[in-house]
Amino acid sequence: MSSDATGGPDSDTATRIKALESLLLEKGLIETSAIEELIDMFENRLGPWNGAKVVARAWTDPGFKEALLRDGTETIAEMGFEALQGEDMVVVENSAEVHNIVVCTLCSCYPWAVLGLPPVWYKSAPYRARAARDPRAVLREFGTEIGADTEVRVWDSNAELRYLVLPERPAGTEALDAAALAELVTRDSMIGVSLVAPP
Ligand code: FE
Repeated sequence: MSSDATGGPDSDTATRIKALESLLLEKGLIETSAIEELIDMFENRLGPWNGAKVVARAWTDPGFKEALLRDGTETIAEMGFEALQGEDMVVVENSAEVHNIVVCTLCSCYPWAVLGLPPVWYKSAPYRARAARDPRAVLREFGTEIGADTEVRVWDSNAELRYLVLPERPAGTEALDAAALAELVTRDSMIGVSLVAPP
């Protein structure tokens, strides 16, 4: 298990996971290969690099972007990134007029297929409470200044609905192709707590 820069490693959680794993194996409820498969999925196949590909394609392909904003679930699935729990995906676009930020005020609902596992801060009580109540203050703590003329919209995820922010394409990237653009797109920019920085 890796640590998170904002939360630190949780050794208690790691111990509990080990205990659960041993118990499941011992009782014959799960096989080692199934555990390896799950670990591989979360470590190697699900992660923000999937979402970054979706964003970069939307920046370079207007038809794709239109489809993505109209039907996020279907359009993302067509790229091979499918929801694990049957939830719907909604993509919200940042612009000069609107900045979007995603939270799950109840728990930690998060678009696993495109972003992987949520960061520790996303699941923390302060983020969940404050992102909804005072999103601009939270954004400032992430070093993100949103102009007073730009409306900040907060999207509250739940079990049936997950959100992905389509960040603004930074200036000076006209010559970059989708693969190069995808490398600029960060996890935080797709949660909406930061902007995509120019190269
Ligand atoms: Fe949740």
